[in-house]
Amino acid sequence: ALMPYITSQFLVRSHGDRPDVVPEGSTNLAFIGQYAEVPEDVVFTVEYSVRTAWTAVAGLLHLDKQPPPVYKGRHNPKVLVEALETLHRR
Ligand SMILES: Cc1cc2nc3c(=O)[nH]c(=O)nc-3n(C[C@H](O)[C@H](O)[C@H](O)COP(=O)(O)OP(=O)(O)OC[C@H]3O[C@@H](n4cnc5c(N)ncnc54)[C@H](O)[C@@H]3O)c2cc1C
Repeated sequence: ALMPYITSQFLVRSHGDRPDVVPEGSTNLAFIGQYAEVPEDVVFTVEYSVRTAWTAVAGLLHLDKQPPPVYKGRHNPKVLVEALETLHRR
C-alpha cells in the first residue's frame, strides 16, 4: 500500500496540483478527502473531508443544497483582536 507522509498535506501547492472534487466535465467521478482541491479551506481536518464528500454528492446530483462557505477566521474582527492580544502578551 502507498501511504504518503502526513506532512505531505502541508506542502506548498498551486491550483492544478490536486484534482478538483468534481473535475470539469465529470458526470460520475469525484475525488474526496484531503488530497482533493478545496479553494480557501485548510487540510488536516475532518471538516475538509466531509466538505469534499458533500461537494461531490451535491455536484454530481445537481442538488441545490451546497456545503456552507468556508469559515474565514481572518475576516472576523473578534478573532483578529484576540490574535493581537495573544501577540501582545508574548
Ligand atoms: C494524529 C491525528 C490527529 C488529528 N486530529 C484532528 C482533529 O483534532 N480535528 C480534525 O478535524 N482532524 C484531525 N485529524 C485529521 C482527520 O483525522 C483526517 O483529516 C480525516 O479523518 C480524514 O478523513 P477521510 O475519510 O478523508 O480519510 P481517512 O479517515 O484516512 O479514511 C480513509 C479510509 O480509506 C481506507 N483505505 C485506504 N486505502 C484503501 C483501499 N485501497 N481500499 C479500501 N479502503 C482503503 C483506509 O483504511 C481508511 O479507513 C487528525 C489526524 C491525525 C492523524
